[in-house]
Amino acid sequence: MTGSPNFDPNDSLLDWYATNRRDLPWRRDADPYRVVVSEIMLQQTQVDRVVPYYEAFVERFPSFEALAQAQRADVIRIWGGLGYNRRAVHLHELARVVVERHGGELPSDRRQLLALPGIGPYTAGALLSIGFGQDEPALDTNVRRVVARYAFSGAPNPSDLEWAAAYLVPRGRAGDWNQALMDLGSSICASTNPKCLICPLQPGCRSAGVTLRKPTHRPQPSFRESSRYFRGRLLWRLRSLAPGATMSLPEIEVSLAAHGVAEPPAGWRAVGEGLARDGLASITETDAGVRMGLV
Ligand code: SF4
Repeated sequence: MTGSPNFDPNDSLLDWYATNRRDLPWRRDADPYRVVVSEIMLQQTQVDRVVPYYEAFVERFPSFEALAQAQRADVIRIWGGLGYNRRAVHLHELARVVVERHGGELPSDRRQLLALPGIGPYTAGALLSIGFGQDEPALDTNVRRVVARYAFSGAPNPSDLEWAAAYLVPRGRAGDWNQALMDLGSSICASTNPKCLICPLQPGCRSAGVTLRKPTHRPQPSFRESSRYFRGRLLWRLRSLAPGATMSLPEIEVSLAAHGVAEPPAGWRAVGEGLARDGLASITETDAGVRMGLV
């Protein structure tokens, strides 16, 4: 597959990983429950930010059974400021389905994993390789980039990329291999300015030393204008309520304004309705007006 016949990418990358691997709490125990919690937390969030939330979460909910029995509001509270709180709802739903359908243990079969809520091809690959020791690739964004550069001189089509990723997995070492590719993609084979000179895959890489075009950046709206910001602020306010308590719409407006949070263009009620649709908040209409709380 590569242009250097004497180069073994397995030895090279796994040796590099043995000395450069990041010491992360979910790597100390390849329990499938912990793997899935970490993978869902790592979606859209940096590793360093995830670590303390992960440790608090698995201490409070050490198994699918414990998580399935928890109140939704408690799960959201522990998820805390990690953001993208729908992930907490999905994880909670997953726990309930795993307990109902599989007695609290994740199945070790790709088809059965993909039938579970919130488990896509990447998470299934991570679970099968890291949690169950099966020879499966796990293609997240970083791994896709590394494999595409290593095995192809141009941009591969998706099926060629998936074939190459599966072909490269060393038998019996898939968990370490996939995590090594993740670490390499976040540290050395970054999206811009890859450090090919110090890369363990460099001798066999088809893109080594090629000047890689920087992606063009589209202007983004400021974070404080985004719906994610307003959703996060409202949820933060609701999380501070006692269990079962609610706040009226005017109380929410005044309280958030006192913390320097401007009114969202569509109003706090619309933000609350969005949270309620995602199972994160409750809205009740009373004679005195709208009230919101956690679910
Ligand atoms: S040699 Fe360069 S392009 Fe190839 S995998 Fe390593 S860092 Fe990426």
